[in-house]
Formats: sequence, structure tokens, C-alpha cells
Amino acid sequence: MPFLSVLAAQERIVSHFEPVESETLPLSQCAGRILASDILSSDLPLFDNSSVDGFAVIATDLTTASPNSPIMLHVVADIPAGSSPNIILSSGNAARIMTGAPLPKGADAVIMVEDTDFNYRETNKIAPENVKIIKSIRAGENIRRRGMDIKSGHKVLFTGQRLRAQDIGLLAMLGMAYVNVYKRPRIALLSSGDELVPVEKHLEPGKIRDSNSYTLAVLITDVGCEVIPLGVASDNREAIQFLFDQAASVEADAIISSGGVSVGAFDYVKEVIESNGRLDFWRVNMRPGKPLAIGEYRGLPFIGLPGNPVSAFVGFEVFVRVALRRMAGQHSTTKLPGHQTVRVRLAEAVESDGRESYLRAVIEDQDGGFSAKLTGHQGSGNLLSIVQANALLIIPAGVKSLAIGAQVDAWLL
Ligand code: AMP
Ligand code: MG
Repeated sequence: MPFLSVLAAQERIVSHFEPVESETLPLSQCAGRILASDILSSDLPLFDNSSVDGFAVIATDLTTASPNSPIMLHVVADIPAGSSPNIILSSGNAARIMTGAPLPKGADAVIMVEDTDFNYRETNKIAPENVKIIKSIRAGENIRRRGMDIKSGHKVLFTGQRLRAQDIGLLAMLGMAYVNVYKRPRIALLSSGDELVPVEKHLEPGKIRDSNSYTLAVLITDVGCEVIPLGVASDNREAIQFLFDQAASVEADAIISSGGVSVGAFDYVKEVIESNGRLDFWRVNMRPGKPLAIGEYRGLPFIGLPGNPVSAFVGFEVFVRVALRRMAGQHSTTKLPGHQTVRVRLAEAVESDGRESYLRAVIEDQDGGFSAKLTGHQGSGNLLSIVQANALLIIPAGVKSLAIGAQVDAWLL
């Protein structure tokens, strides 16, 4: 059985996961989805408009305007936001204009209402007949020109990016009522083990709760996939095969399991995969969670995580996240498997055994950097070590001990 580095294992896994198809959705349903096409902008703003409430003017009319010698202009139009002025402003005239309203032809600047004698608080409903301007102005002032934010044809959003609030807003500005996004991959999820009981069922002696199904469902959803929960398979071939067949019959895009892939006497997951597809079984040079089964079941990509709750969690973060992101169409590489990474200083000495180790830690701001403390005992069954953690420290392969103050990378949780 090969002993693989973490990176080599990630690369092999990712190669089994191809992006799913795309679909076209109404914009209001696209938050959190992954763009499947690049988006080219039109000119923004779409037309020259005023950035203040005031009066559209011709700058050369006002060269000598000052508080002591104001210049009086005749107000020939009133332009609220949303209107479309059809006047051409000529010398000696002004048009009252509101923020965002289109600039009338002929005007080349907008005087703020504060620089006039017009008291907009008292009389803002009706435009005055004349207005006295007490300040000169440069051509172009207080005007937002067409295309000044974004020029037409500029690529503003990219295939593979996850749509956030501001991206959705920009798509709305551009009039994209429907958007081409990747479908959400449907991931069949199962646990295997005779001892496992779902949370709502009575717990007989010797049994434990199936916690992995719950943890992994949240992680899978978090990557932008849909979970098809298949529950628990007992430790026998028929039960395991039954659930795998269900995954195939509902046309899941991939299958993730936990438990049953070690070399224990009742670990049948691997056998079932092998007799209905293709199995790679590796020992990965990492801690925790070295047994890892990957392969295909009736054509569906499959990853079998170890059963220990910490191993399953870390295994997801190291191997499954990057694979599912790729399946979901999201940009990521094995070097950047989709985690926010920070550099941290150890606040305590750390021992390792030479395997690449993922240790649970609390990191906090200290002297302009981050310091990291381990969260209690790092046994692979101790879920509390992750509950209390806000980061996974990565101790590189080949390192046996690190002193206080040593720096390592950490993934934020
Ligand atoms: P296995 O990988 O099946 O050998 O399981 C290793 C350990 O993880 C055993 O102590 C199992 O009871 C535990 N375990 C396996 N699956 C789960 C699960 N779904 N939830 C919680 N613990 C589990
Ligand atoms: Mg088991």
C-alpha cells in the first residue's frame, strides 16, 4: 500500500472531481452560487449625472462669482432623479438638479445648493425662478461621467468566483436578471458502523451517536453543495452496498462516507467499492486520519474518510473541501485548497512525529501578529479540540519538534 504525501494525495483526489454542469437562475437566487461565465460590464454610470443636489450650470458663467458679488442665473428646468431632461442649457441659465439625475445638454458643472442663495430646506418642493450663485466652479465638478466607474467591455466578474452581496448588486446594476451559475453538486453522505445511532434514536449500551453525518453535512453545505443524507450503514456488505446503490439511483454527483475504511475486521466499505468500481486505498503521511479510501462507485467519485470525528473533520478540510470546490466550479488549487491561511507564532512548544500534522489551536492577535495555543489533547476522537479551536496549525512533514515562537501556517476555521 503506497504511503503518499498530503499534496500528492490531494492532487490525485482532485483529478477525480470534474465541475458539474451550469444552469441559468434568476438573480435573486444566485447569492453564494459560483459563476459559470465571465461577466462583461456596460458603461457605469450609464449616463452623465449629478453627484450632488444643486444647479446644473455652465462653468464659464460663474468665473467671477463670490459671496460679495453673486451671479444670478435664470432657472429654466427642474430635473429630479429618474427624469430625462430634453433641454439644452444656454449661457445665463441654470437647471435645478438632484443627485443621480441626468445632466442636461449644455451644462458642464453642478453647483451645490449650499453655494447658492436657495434655501432648499424650506422651499425644496418648488424650484426658484432665479438663483444667486456665490462661488465659481470648474467644468466637470460634481458630475459623474458616463463610464467613469467601469468602461463598457471591461471584465468585472469571473467564472469560478462565488457571488457575494456586492457581486449580486453589480449584476443588478448591469441588468442581469438571469445568471449562468454552476449547479450545486449533490453529495450523498453516509456513515458506517454497527455502533452508530442517529441523534433522535434511543442509545443502547455500547452504541454512540453518529456525529460525523451532522458535522460533514454542514461542511459539505458550506462548500456550496447539496447533501443527500443516506444515514448509517451497519458493518456488513449488504447494508453498505444498499446505501451506495441508493446514491447511484438518485444520481448523486459524488459519495462521501466516514468510517469503515481502516483495516479493522468489519471494515467493508473498501470491499464494496472495489467490487462495483475502482478503489485506491492509501496511507497518507499525515496526522490525524491516515487511512483514506478514494475511488469510484458505479461511475460516481467517492471519498471514504476515517471514522474518528477529528480525523473525519480534518480529512474533509485537507482532501474533500478542495475536491468539492472543484466540483462546484469554484477556483482552487491543491496549493490553495480553499482556506484562509495566516502565519502564526507558537505560544507553546509542539512535538510531532514527522508526519504532516494538522493540530487544533486557538489563535489570537498578539503584537501585530497571531499567537497559537493548542486546544487540549489532540486525540483523533476528541471533537472538543475542534470545537474550541479557531484554526488548524500545519506542522510540515519531516518536523519532529518546534520551539515556542516558531512560525507555521494556520487555516482559519
Ligand atoms: P472506523 O473508521 O470505522 O474504524 O471508526 C473509528 C472510530 O470512529 C470508532 O471509534 C468509531 O466508533 C468512530 N466513528 C466512526 N464513525 C463515526 C461517526 N459517524 N460518528 C462518530 N464516531 C464515529
Ligand atoms: Mg467502524
